[in-house]
Amino acid sequence: MLPDFTYERPGSLDEALEHGAPAGAVLHAGGTDLLGCLRDGVFSAEKVVSLSGLEELRGIRSTGNGGLRIGALTTLTEIASDASIGESYGALAQAAASAASPQLRNQGTIGGNICQRPRCWYYRGDFHCLRKGGSTCYAIAGENHYHCIFGGSGCYIVHPSDTAPALQALGASVRIASRSGSRTVAMEEFFVLPADDIRHENILEPGELVTEVVVPAVAAGTRSVYRKVRDRGAWDFALAGLAAVVRMDGDRVEEASLVLSGVAPRPWRAVDAERSLAGGECLVHPCVGKSPS
Ligand SMILES: Cc1cc2nc3c(=O)[nH]c(=O)nc-3n(C[C@H](O)[C@H](O)[C@H](O)COP(=O)(O)OP(=O)(O)OC[C@H]3O[C@@H](n4cnc5c(N)ncnc54)[C@H](O)[C@@H]3O)c2cc1C
Ligand code: SF4
Repeated sequence: MLPDFTYERPGSLDEALEHGAPAGAVLHAGGTDLLGCLRDGVFSAEKVVSLSGLEELRGIRSTGNGGLRIGALTTLTEIASDASIGESYGALAQAAASAASPQLRNQGTIGGNICQRPRCWYYRGDFHCLRKGGSTCYAIAGENHYHCIFGGSGCYIVHPSDTAPALQALGASVRIASRSGSRTVAMEEFFVLPADDIRHENILEPGELVTEVVVPAVAAGTRSVYRKVRDRGAWDFALAGLAAVVRMDGDRVEEASLVLSGVAPRPWRAVDAERSLAGGECLVHPCVGKSPS
């Protein structure tokens, strides 16, 4: 059962920032992750601030210089089915299409997708672990075969988002607003490791919210793809995934950006693999850009 809280549905960004600033307030976008957390007592809220009245945070627009601005409230379905995203940012379209189920993609937003909380079952369950402010990581001696293989330190979550690795590989940035103004952060700088902050997955400060993600124009010869392995054929988080963005000159790889999902507490760049691809002939070139099977 959901606990008691007050509910606000502001009609403007300024109003939302006003309501979202006090301690104890949480933001509600599509609610597909948040409501489960509140219902299961993962964290509590005195006030839930719905973003659903903020029309300015919806939709996909041109940046004017070849890139796209994707409002934080744009749904995963809208992203997966947008023609311009499918054409230029295949990895993002495929990542959005691979998340959750059709119903959840209709409701779930891109802002909520990158800000969703970890799925570690101790964190989601009745365990006061380190990430909740306790003194133990129950996964170390417990059920940990879905936990991270890179980047763990004290806490061993994997970041659950499918779209975040694709956005990072595409060189996207995040626009963040607060009552004191706005700032833009590269997606690569948005997420944090447990060694830097064991209680949070990203750099958002209290009172800040994501207003949009911005994907830059893609250079000629660029193709991208997102592949995801999961326990079940569908409706499941990534056991491991890869967002690959490759700039080709004929059969030669000029540049590669490879970001893994499901293996680390944040989207994880495979730097050595990027280096070994760059400058070489791409033997997998024909598969890049095709739809995932
Ligand atoms: C059964 C199931 C399967 C799922 N499978 C997948 C999957 O395969 N891949 C995947 O990536 N996700 C999956 N999800 C997670 C989730 O549904 C999606 O990530 C969805 O996109 C979350 O968006 P939302 O708008 O519903 O977020 P919400 O639930 O509204 O919010 C999630 C969190 O982000 C915060 N938040 C939301 N919007 C903002 C904002 N603009 N600025 C700052 N903070 C914000 C909220 O406060 C909350 O803490 C799954 C969920 C379920 C229940
Ligand atoms: S992995 Fe992190 S979230 Fe999971 S039990 Fe350990 S400290 Fe908690």
